[in-house]
Amino acid sequence: MDIHADFFAELDAAVTSARNGGRRGTALLLVGLGRLDFIDRNLGLGGGDAVLESVQVLLRNQLPGVSIHRLRDARYGMIVPCDDSAEAMNLAHRLVALCSSPHCFNGRDVFSPPFIGVAMARSDRENGTTLLKDALAAMDEARRSHLGCARLYDPAMASQMDSDFHIENNMRSAFETDQFHVVYQPLVDLTSPDANRLIGFEALLRWTRPDLGPIPPDRFIPVAETCGLIIGLGHYVLWTACRQQVEWAAKGRPVTMSVNLSPVQLMSAGIEDAITEVVAETGIDPTFLKLELTETALATDPLVMAEKLGRLRRIGVSVGVDDFGSGYSSLGQLDLFGLDFMKIDKSLIQRLGPSGRQTELVRLTAALAKHLGMSVVAEGIEDDEHLQALRKLGIDVGQGYLFGRPAPPDQIVQWLLPNGMTPRAKLSEA
Ligand code: C2E
Ligand code: CA
Ligand code: CA
Repeated sequence: MDIHADFFAELDAAVTSARNGGRRGTALLLVGLGRLDFIDRNLGLGGGDAVLESVQVLLRNQLPGVSIHRLRDARYGMIVPCDDSAEAMNLAHRLVALCSSPHCFNGRDVFSPPFIGVAMARSDRENGTTLLKDALAAMDEARRSHLGCARLYDPAMASQMDSDFHIENNMRSAFETDQFHVVYQPLVDLTSPDANRLIGFEALLRWTRPDLGPIPPDRFIPVAETCGLIIGLGHYVLWTACRQQVEWAAKGRPVTMSVNLSPVQLMSAGIEDAITEVVAETGIDPTFLKLELTETALATDPLVMAEKLGRLRRIGVSVGVDDFGSGYSSLGQLDLFGLDFMKIDKSLIQRLGPSGRQTELVRLTAALAKHLGMSVVAEGIEDDEHLQALRKLGIDVGQGYLFGRPAPPDQIVQWLLPNGMTPRAKLSEA
């Protein structure tokens, strides 16, 4: 980051003052802006600059007497006197709200949601550089959470950053030493008698380290997304899963194969060609391949995404939204994408119970999805009560520990009975 000398001097002074027990505290706020690339791509190169200038004016008006430092990577840094972190966060939330409103460029409304990291100058920090590191960790956390939010530095963030670094380093060599493999979790047709007709599998990536054992995907996938490794890993999962589908189809069980596509993969140039190639190389019938996308991926750049999904569907594969209900996208917006299926998030399914409210929410979500032409999948089905509730609601497809846990291919054989029925066997994950 190209930090100006006066910015560094101000940072050092803030830390020295905190160490000397200065009367007021000092907060460092780092403001980043989302979607600038998108704005430049779609509105021409002046678009991003116009947004940056508009934000600078907003910050100046809000913080008279405070120096607004323009840093590299389209960020602003401000050192602000604040009594405590609550006051600093109040200010940060106010700035998020202000900078989230549209900026005007060439007569058009342009949105660039900010992400703000906040760190308080503390007496135990050596100098301005450590304060800057704290605020960067908080800003990174804000960016990862979702655009349009602010985060206060917490020491856990620094240790997370350290361990993210270790994970990234280990992942690179793990790929070469076969530490990754793919497991498969069954999907069943909930409308079949006893809800036991197997219709497909979801492929899920696993990483087992020889020294530490299994590393949860929720831990390593976000790191792989940040450092770009997800492109190679995602390609490996897609290829392995398609190959597996072809093998099972050759044994007489043409099951569907669902594969998760990370937002980073989806946004990468040439993803359509990469998928076309995998389909050709593995010989999978593309109508059996289902790509699961996240709400965040769809919300990032809806018009560009709608076009991309159109190209994917022309390959013959189905595309759908995963974890629906866990994020922020609106049902109305989904219509834009012509999706084939919707997977309702397990957090909604697992709250199904005697309370009518939750059931009503799932019923309405499913009804609207069907109205938009999607089939509806419920994930996270763990007990019979959920299953019965979902069957009553007319949900098409189910997935969850009740039917089977994700398992390696050699344990899947028992699922592939010739009559198409699946025993309600609880497979354990190896
Ligand atoms: P997901 O796509 O929502 O996958 C379903 C997750 O729910 C899996 O966790 C699965 O083991 C778990 N699950 C299934 N049934 C139940 C149930 O009845 N109860 C509960 N509590 N959980 C259930 P897993 O395998 O740990 O994966 C976590 C997440 O990691 C996945 O969530 C997905 O977002 C990501 N992921 C896994 N493999 C891949 C991959 O190959 N590519 C990408 N991009 N993401 C992946
Ligand atoms: Ca999924
Ligand atoms: Ca899911």
